[in-house]
Amino acid sequence: MNTPATELPSSGQAPAILLPDPDTVFLARAERFEALALHHGLGEWLGFLGRLSRAQHKALAAAGPGLTPPAADVLERARKHRMPPISVASFERPAVWRDILRDIAGDLLENAPVGARDTLDALLITSAEELDKLAGKLLDGEPDRDDMARLPYIAAALQVVLTSIASQLDAAALPLMEAHSTCPVCGSLPVVSVIRNEGPAAGLRYVHCTLCNTEWHVPHATCVTCGDREKVTLHEIDGDDGIARAESCGACDSYTKLIVQGRNVRIDPIADDLASVALDMLVDDAGFVRSGPNYLLIGASE
Ligand SMILES: [Zn+2]
Ligand SMILES: [Zn+2]
Repeated sequence: MNTPATELPSSGQAPAILLPDPDTVFLARAERFEALALHHGLGEWLGFLGRLSRAQHKALAAAGPGLTPPAADVLERARKHRMPPISVASFERPAVWRDILRDIAGDLLENAPVGARDTLDALLITSAEELDKLAGKLLDGEPDRDDMARLPYIAAALQVVLTSIASQLDAAALPLMEAHSTCPVCGSLPVVSVIRNEGPAAGLRYVHCTLCNTEWHVPHATCVTCGDREKVTLHEIDGDDGIARAESCGACDSYTKLIVQGRNVRIDPIADDLASVALDMLVDDAGFVRSGPNYLLIGASE
């Protein structure tokens, strides 16, 4: 394993960690899903996820001050030990997360596709205890088959909670983790990496947390999972728009997607990931395993 490089420009303009903007993150995602849905074989599904993202945006705006970041001493202890201040597997979920879930489910029920309606109806009457159990199984990475249809909504509510908390932290006071694959806020795996072409971070690569929407810097051509820099290979689908590529690693057999922002295109890590599942199939077939999940995809094949 190589020593983690930072490779941030010496001008110091680009931050190592980008925290989510709670006012725009889910709204921009909704707009990207909607744009992608227009000309896509999976348009109906992507359009539905656009509505899910809009429901997340509304729920986050309504959640207000119910979601508080960890106390100063917890943050300081985490910084000292170079640990994420929140551990999703063990963190005490604020009770409001279940209200957020019900808000999202209620919002989506209007005009929901028939297949989703039963699941959303069931979620609205699921007991608090059962919802907490489902959240625990999702975050432990050990969901049951029977739970699959409900999990994207559970994940969507937890994304709202963790995004709100992450947005209240101070990025400058958070260290990068030793492993490139560990979110410096919540310890989750990344969903994809992104290369944008605007702002101080333009041209650099950041990986995007699958739960809290935090992004952190990982140098180009470096395996996100094991840090190898010798055996990384790029894959893309010929004739595609070039937005989604995959970087596989011959040292640990993992891969991470790269979502590359083109001109006049507002990319979104979660939406562009799901619009390019064909690329996952290509890289999966070549024997590589994704470095982190996209929780909105769980159960999609059921
Ligand atoms: Zn995170
Ligand atoms: Zn690797």
